[in-house]
Amino acid sequence: MEPARDPRVQASSGRPGCGRFAPSPTSALHLGNLRTALAAWLLARRSGRGFVVRIEDLDQARVAAAGDIAGRQLADLEALGLDWDGPVLRQSRRLEIYAEMIDRLPCYPCFCTRREIAAASRAPDGNPASGDGGWLPYPGTCRGLSDAERAARARERPAALRLRAPISRRAVRDLARGVQSGRVDDVVLRRNDGTPAYNLAVVVDDALQGVDQVVRARDLWPSAPRQAMIAGMLALPVPGYAHTGLVTGPGGRRLAKSGGDAGLAELAAAGIGVDRVRRLLCRSLGLPEIDRLEELLTEDPRIDAALRPPAPSEGNASSRGVTPLEAGPLTGPIGWWSDAEIPISPLDLRPSER
Ligand code: GLU
Repeated sequence: MEPARDPRVQASSGRPGCGRFAPSPTSALHLGNLRTALAAWLLARRSGRGFVVRIEDLDQARVAAAGDIAGRQLADLEALGLDWDGPVLRQSRRLEIYAEMIDRLPCYPCFCTRREIAAASRAPDGNPASGDGGWLPYPGTCRGLSDAERAARARERPAALRLRAPISRRAVRDLARGVQSGRVDDVVLRRNDGTPAYNLAVVVDDALQGVDQVVRARDLWPSAPRQAMIAGMLALPVPGYAHTGLVTGPGGRRLAKSGGDAGLAELAAAGIGVDRVRRLLCRSLGLPEIDRLEELLTEDPRIDAALRPPAPSEGNASSRGVTPLEAGPLTGPIGWWSDAEIPISPLDLRPSER
């Protein structure tokens, strides 16, 4: 039987949904995060959607270690010129909602350590049995434990809670990649310290906030099938996805989350003001280099064209017509879907350029 739709899900009939930006306050927003935020805001606003910001602060230990920088992240978004609708939602204040949703799902306790999972996930050739995008699907070790085995293991360590996944693959749609099908597994719903897991919280919040367009970086594309599976099992709507490319620093160097790449403040200290950052981000997205973000909201077919990704290739579709999930970079023209090198970093500026 189909589960009943949650009455708190924002009714979508006749009302546009919304887009969102959902940073974790564990490091300042670097240029990649800011580029994704700008793309998310623009795709939402230009399609008549609302736009919400959510602080994903469930991992309290990491949040505290970073010095609780959510306020700085919001200030950076504002300095760039982004605006959002309604109050900023903080996941740490919504624990009862996640607990209630977990109660609705079939699950089982899991006592495995990371090391045990890695060892059990090895294929016969000794290589990790990788899921799409390189994550390790859970091999199901604790799925069939007897009550006695569970009781014995519970004396050794606290249990995480895993979803009893009814399927092993799930198709999802991305605006630039088309429909692709990725592996799903018995995903963790609650960590063994009691914290609701990211994949559960993100699904619940997107649905209850009326988010129907999820724009985020392509490293999260392999999570989309698992998230769509959880949404389906909770009878929550599955949003459309639009995964942006990743940003690299000068010379194609990977951006560090901390250690100097981070933040408008570091860039400003190196003499790179927010106006220049905004123009660089726009250029990296294939957009006109404007001074105020509102200029991107005017009627202008060139901006619409710049935001439209090339049609996904039908490349290696399987016999059932669904392409296996591919999280790598997309080639082709510059846009929100493409990777970009943004050649500025306070780390790399020579003293004469500072
Ligand atoms: N909070 C996540 C992050 O900062 C993003 C989650 C999402 O966009 O789904 O990496």
